[in-house]
Amino acid sequence: MAIAILTRGTEQKLKTTGNYMIILPARIYLTALAELWRITYHQADRKLVLVELPRQSLVIMGAPLTERAVVDLLKKWIKLKAQVFLKAYFQKLNKKVNSPYKKLNIIASNIEWGYCSPKGVISLNYKLIFLPRTLVRHLIIHELCHVRYLNHSRRFWHEVKKYDKSWKKNDTLLYEGNRYIPNWIIY
Ligand SMILES: [Zn+2]
Repeated sequence: MAIAILTRGTEQKLKTTGNYMIILPARIYLTALAELWRITYHQADRKLVLVELPRQSLVIMGAPLTERAVVDLLKKWIKLKAQVFLKAYFQKLNKKVNSPYKKLNIIASNIEWGYCSPKGVISLNYKLIFLPRTLVRHLIIHELCHVRYLNHSRRFWHEVKKYDKSWKKNDTLLYEGNRYIPNWIIY
């Protein structure tokens, strides 16, 4: 059976071919970095690999070119990009906040963007890389301020406000942040 590689936006074309269909993303927009990555696929008789080329281009080649295998590979790549970005941005913001946090973890969660433990361990969701920079900034400041105030008291918000004047608007927008995450990433 022939395998038709289908990228989002071209679903209709392949409905009629009768071939086995898989739906794979044609591009990834990393909003926080303002980077649009284009993806091309090549089926080959080798282990599936992802190759990063210049000018924001990704090539995925090998087998099996199944949705599951490709998404796993892309998620791994996105997590690495997120680690580098979030760790650096976190350090930069803490130069202002001066929070005595204990440790930073980058996590994968479908529930929270980030949290702070009572011991001052901050966890940030790698999916933050899909959000606008202003919201990532807000979330990191929020967690850094939790190290001193582990609640949502007036004193806590007063502290957040010192570093983010639009904290109220950003806090509301963060609740709708899921709309920036591509559907296939939940898979
Ligand atoms: Zn909070």
